[in-house]
Amino acid sequence: MTLTIRILISMMLGLIVGLILHALTNIEAIPASLATSIQDYLIDGLFDLIGQIFVISLKLLVVPLVFVSLVCGCSSLGDQSRMGVMAIKTLGLYMGTTAIAITLALMIGQLISPGSGMSMAPETSFTPTEAPSLKEVVINIFPSNPVQAMSEGNMLQIIVFSLLMGVAIARSGKAGEKARGVFEAFNEVIMSMVTILMHLAPYGVFCLLAKLFAGLGYSAIGDLFDYFICVVLVLLIHALLVYPLILSLFTRLNPITFFMNIRPAMLFAFSTSSSSATLPVTLTVAENRLGVGNSVASFTLPLGATINMDGTAIMQGVATVFIAQAFNVDIGLGGYLMVILTATLASVGTAGVPGVGLITLTMVLQQVGLPVEGVALIIGVDRLLDMMRTAVNISGDSMVATIIGHQEKQLDVDRFNDRSDVTA
Ligand code: ASP
Repeated sequence: MTLTIRILISMMLGLIVGLILHALTNIEAIPASLATSIQDYLIDGLFDLIGQIFVISLKLLVVPLVFVSLVCGCSSLGDQSRMGVMAIKTLGLYMGTTAIAITLALMIGQLISPGSGMSMAPETSFTPTEAPSLKEVVINIFPSNPVQAMSEGNMLQIIVFSLLMGVAIARSGKAGEKARGVFEAFNEVIMSMVTILMHLAPYGVFCLLAKLFAGLGYSAIGDLFDYFICVVLVLLIHALLVYPLILSLFTRLNPITFFMNIRPAMLFAFSTSSSSATLPVTLTVAENRLGVGNSVASFTLPLGATINMDGTAIMQGVATVFIAQAFNVDIGLGGYLMVILTATLASVGTAGVPGVGLITLTMVLQQVGLPVEGVALIIGVDRLLDMMRTAVNISGDSMVATIIGHQEKQLDVDRFNDRSDVTA
C-alpha cells in the first residue's frame, strides 16, 4: 500500500471514529461519567497528545530544512543573477493567482448571495488587527539577527539570510566548495528526517481528525450552509479549473499528473491546516515527484508557504460578500476592488498557520468599513474550511514552483511524468 493510500485510510477512520465519539459523548443514554472519561482520556488525552506531537514534529523540521536547502539551492545555481529573475517571476505569479482567486470569490459570492436574508445578531466582538505599514513590512524582511529569525520561525528573514549565505558560498572559491559540501550533506540528512516523519503520518493524521470531528460533529455547518458551499465551490473551481489552465498555459504539462504527484502534500495540508507545517512534505514532493530542481523548489516553496494563500483569499472574498449581505451594507465596486487589493496584500507577511486567515480577514473588513464582528458569524465552520483552503494554498505554491522550474530549465519532465509510485 502506498503512503498516500495509508494516509487516506487513516483520514477516513479518524473522521468516522471522531463522529462516533461525538455521538457517544452527546447522547443521554451514555452515563455522564463515561462520556467525561472518553472526552478527557481519549479525545482530549490520547488523540490530542499524538496529534499535537505530530504537528510539532513537522514544524520542527521547517526552519533547518528551509535554511539548509535554500543555501544549497542558491549556492549551486551557476548564474546567481538568475535568482533575481526567478524572484520577480515567482512574486508575479503568486500575486497574480491570488488576485484571480479573490476576484472569482467575489463574483461567485455575488451570484450565490450566501448572506442575503440572514438575521444578524453578532454575539462576540472582535478586535481588529492593525495592518502594518508597507515600510514596516519591507524593513521586517531583513533580519538583524539570524538566530532570532530562526528561533521565531520568521520565514522571510530566514529566506533573506539563506540567499545571502548561498550567494557568498558561491563566490568564496575553495572555502565555499567545502561549505557547500557540508550543507549538501546536511540537506540529505534532514530530508531523511522528513521521510521518517512521513511514515508516521497515518497515526498523526488519524488522531488529528478524530479529535477534530469528535468536537465538531456533523451539525456544525447548520445555518452557514450557503456560505460553506460557496467557499467550497470557489476553492474547487480555482483548484480544478484555474490551476490546470495556468499550468498548461505555461508548461503544457498534464494537470492530472500534477495533482496525482502532489496528493501527499495536499493530504498533509488538509490534516494539519497549516502550509508551514506541511512545508517539509511540499518540498520533498516537489523535488522527488514533480521533478522541480532544488534551487527552484527551496526558494519558491518556503516563500509561497508564507506569502501565497489563494485558498485563504477565496475564503476572505466570500466572507466579505457574506458579511456585507448579512449586515445589509453595500460596499460598492470601489469597495470590492479594495477587497481584492487588501486581501492580496494581507496574505503577504502572515504565516501559514491554522486559522490565520480569519485574523487577516479583520484587516480586510476594516479596510472597507464592514463590521469586524462579522467574523464571529463564520467562525463555526472555519475550522473545516481551513483544512480545504490550506490544501489549495499548497497546491498553488507547488504549481508556481513547477512553472518556475520549467521556465528556468530546472524541471525533470521524466520524473514529473513517472507514475511508478514513489513513497515520498
Ligand atoms: N491555514 C492556512 C494555511 O496555513 C492559513 C489560513 O487560511 O488560515 O495556509
